Amino acid sequence: MSAKIRLFVDHPLGKEQSVPLDRDQAHYLFGVMRLAVGTSVLLFNGRDGEWMASVVVVGKRGGELLVQTQTRPLQMPPDLWLLFAPIKKARTDFIVEKAAEMGAARIVPVQTEFTNAERIRQNRLQAHAVEAAEQCGGTFVPEVTGLQKLDRVLADWPTGRKLMFCDEEKVGRSSALTGILADGGWAILIGPEGGFSKRERTRLRGLEFAQSVSLGPRILRADTAAVAAMTLWQQKLGDWR
Ligand code: SAH
Repeated sequence: MSAKIRLFVDHPLGKEQSVPLDRDQAHYLFGVMRLAVGTSVLLFNGRDGEWMASVVVVGKRGGELLVQTQTRPLQMPPDLWLLFAPIKKARTDFIVEKAAEMGAARIVPVQTEFTNAERIRQNRLQAHAVEAAEQCGGTFVPEVTGLQKLDRVLADWPTGRKLMFCDEEKVGRSSALTGILADGGWAILIGPEGGFSKRERTRLRGLEFAQSVSLGPRILRADTAAVAAMTLWQQKLGDWR
């Protein structure tokens, strides 16, 4: 039987490696998917690529898999971060899921002046990134960081990284994005529902590493804007070329 299930495990993967399953994984594989001893599963851990493994122990609260052969090497996304201001719960979940599918290397929730969310559920967002990687065939899982203040992120900006600042005041202009994917990588910045404050916009426009970019003739909701910006970036500078 061909393996259809892809499972993320936080465990080293290599030939003949035994992988213990926790309660949730056992519940999913044996309780929900009804896998029996001998069935194949695809595993990845974000570091070692994708491997075929077979079920050796089935249990209610655990189990064990045995890794056989590598089916795919690790495929890293381009060095792209997505910085976004968290919005309502379901839409924030959507942004994280889509960023993982679209090939973000790192997802950074940022608090801006008009951000309503004071806190995020980092573990839950990270779990969404894992699920997205499981279903889209990815072998890498982007890290979702804790919520950081935009001002601080900009003050600590890494040398060489470029910023694609999605600036709603540029609505209607051409979406010119220029540059190359150099060693320092890139980041995309998407604002909250209320947009950026005047002060934030002035600061962002003045940063030498930032390029302010339009996303076309309509104002997009933040979740749409995140997907649109990543599409534009991937097509011009990333792994869609
Ligand atoms: N309330 C604001 C819009 C915020 S849209 C207003 O009416 O002006 C949320 C975020 O999506 C923005 O901060 C920006 O980062 C991005 N965005 C949406 N539409 C855009 C566009 N046409 N061009 C550039 N960025 C856009």
